Amino acid sequence: MKRKLGLLLAVIALLVGGAMLFARQQLAQRLFDRALDTSVGIDQSAALGDGLHAYVCGSGSPMPDASRAGPCIAVLAGNQAFVFDAGSGSIRKLMRMGFPMPRLQAAFLTHLHSDHIDGLGELMLQAWVGGHRTAPLPIYGPAGTDQVVGGFNAAYQLDRGYRIAHHGPQVVPPGGFGGAPTLIALPDGTGSQVAYDRDGVQITVIRVNHAPIAPAFGYRIDYKGRSIALSGDTVYSPGFVAAAKGADLMFHEALNKPMVAALGKKLAERGQANTAQIMTDIQNYHASPEDAARAAREAGVKALVLYHLVPAPPARLIEPLFLGDAPKQFSGTLKLAKDGMLVSLPAGGKDVNFTSAF
Ligand SMILES: [Zn+2]
Ligand SMILES: [Zn+2]
Repeated sequence: MKRKLGLLLAVIALLVGGAMLFARQQLAQRLFDRALDTSVGIDQSAALGDGLHAYVCGSGSPMPDASRAGPCIAVLAGNQAFVFDAGSGSIRKLMRMGFPMPRLQAAFLTHLHSDHIDGLGELMLQAWVGGHRTAPLPIYGPAGTDQVVGGFNAAYQLDRGYRIAHHGPQVVPPGGFGGAPTLIALPDGTGSQVAYDRDGVQITVIRVNHAPIAPAFGYRIDYKGRSIALSGDTVYSPGFVAAAKGADLMFHEALNKPMVAALGKKLAERGQANTAQIMTDIQNYHASPEDAARAAREAGVKALVLYHLVPAPPARLIEPLFLGDAPKQFSGTLKLAKDGMLVSLPAGGKDVNFTSAF
């Protein structure tokens, strides 16, 4: 009797286990189908109204960070899209945000420090394959951009061959591979000048101060009365403030010097003298959060988003320490950039709307 009962219980357990496994599989299939339906192949940017939209594809710095890619801001202006810097990991974030790669017109580099260019190969590849380009991606930047873009083009030559051979030239048109450098030279004494002007979108290049790295640029994007200024890497720069005057939104880099000094001290204590020295060196060519707040106040912008955060606060509770006195120096909207942040400036409006893609 006991044995029979045991057998019955074993059979029931098997049936229940099997049914649960089946239900789990079904649920997994349904979730997968739903994800396919709601995300794959959909132009998520089509739901955004006319205006300027800034995608934070990378809010970090060269420091390793699980949640922040290297510096990258992308902008959608009406039908035209642009990428400003391509830090490590940023292009994957950009794709996850539903950035309309087929509308990408050009990339702009602020300067040629590795943390701003190390995602360039992936950007050129996505622009070609995902953006269906038939001509190389124009890449604007300071002197030396030709060397950088040429290097990436060379490094990706083998991959170019693999993909054309495998997918065919209809799918990956050979002419769309790689990047085409366009060098920007600001004449001495010129603080800013228009570098791109097409179909209502104007992009101005701005000289900033990231000495000894020169030239280094910030950019301003204007479209239908709305505007975004982004600093690239710089100390407080009066030229950037002048060019950013009246912009709706400012992205400014920020480095918290006491926090970086504390990092350096700890590294030195633990015998890592070289890295400790770097923590000292980097303090003199970046802006503090207070410097950024001052720039935003003087430029009269509506909102300030700090990016290229060094060190990025690892927890929300540490953010006030990073910001220091910045909130006292700028009375507009002040935020720390996060990867996935989307800032929208509707055409014909005054609002600055923040949402998050993930
Ligand atoms: Zn730099
Ligand atoms: Zn940098």
